[in-house]
Amino acid sequence: MSPDIPKRPIDLLSIVIPIFNESAVLPELRIELERVLSTLNCRWEVLFVDDGSWDLSYNILSEWSQQEERIKIIRLSRNFGQQAAFTAGLDRALGDVVVTMDADLQDPPELIQEMVDHYQKGCDIVYAKRQRREGESWFKKATAYVFYRLLRHESAGLIPEDTGDFRLMSRPTVDILNQMRERHRFLRGMSAWVGFSQMAITFERPIRKQGKTKYSVKKMCTLAADAVFSFSILPLRISLLLGMVVFCFGVLYSIYSLIQKYCYADVVPGWTALVMLLSIIGGAILVCLGVIGEYIGRIYEEVKHRPLYIVRESRNLGAK
Ligand code: UDP
Ligand code: MG
Repeated sequence: MSPDIPKRPIDLLSIVIPIFNESAVLPELRIELERVLSTLNCRWEVLFVDDGSWDLSYNILSEWSQQEERIKIIRLSRNFGQQAAFTAGLDRALGDVVVTMDADLQDPPELIQEMVDHYQKGCDIVYAKRQRREGESWFKKATAYVFYRLLRHESAGLIPEDTGDFRLMSRPTVDILNQMRERHRFLRGMSAWVGFSQMAITFERPIRKQGKTKYSVKKMCTLAADAVFSFSILPLRISLLLGMVVFCFGVLYSIYSLIQKYCYADVVPGWTALVMLLSIIGGAILVCLGVIGEYIGRIYEEVKHRPLYIVRESRNLGAK
């Protein structure tokens, strides 16, 4: 971009951070955030979304909110998950630019300045792309590698590889994202879907500063399923393919058995073949039904129109 294009001004920058039992890392997070925010040339607000923590996180946050009115808290009624917590924060963020990031300092706050620079040059979405992941198990690295590549392929290149939820978004992007009220949220895909101008900045993802991961294998699988089922019909295609393969196999086997019967009169009761056929076809039908059921279940959850999260209380939200 040419340097003589006037910089886009920023009046207010919002930072949205979901918190689930993060009391160990909070003090360090605040120090890092304030260090970075004090160097930015704009007003700021930080929205902490307490996603049903049962440790001291809320007490710490509410003490901060009394000391500093730019620190805002949204406390959810229970654990709704990281994506819902981000949504609660995005719904209430007032900034013309909104940054979403994790609490554990795996998303280094010093990158915010670089993101802001790109925004000011005209970019609407600046996302951080992990170049290397430190301190994560080989299982997480391997599954993440396969998952992101599959997803990128399936979303026709829409969803960038190796990106998390560390992202800067312009107000128009956030407004559109806030209108997308689907239940199974995969925000990194949804923000990519919005369009506008997007770019990546790369960073080496450090290890979590304090505490343990709040993403259990179950939560990781749920997020992966949300990504796959919301952004692709690949599972439906696979079930169709499986059905077709089994059908062709069935037709061929029928022809074979007819030939046996009429040409060779070889009609020894085929117990083994029968059992094999039954179990293969039965299995294939169940797989297909399961996949269809997964989509129907999601349609059912969408039509219920339940709120995506429930707010128990909030602090400093009136203050701009
Ligand atoms: N988180 C949340 N609700 C959850 C799980 C996680 O709000 O149910 C938050 C957590 O506090 C952190 C962010 O989401 O700020 C990312 O979680 P974590 O670092 O545990 O995930 P990982 O980096 O291990 O994938
Ligand atoms: Mg983390």
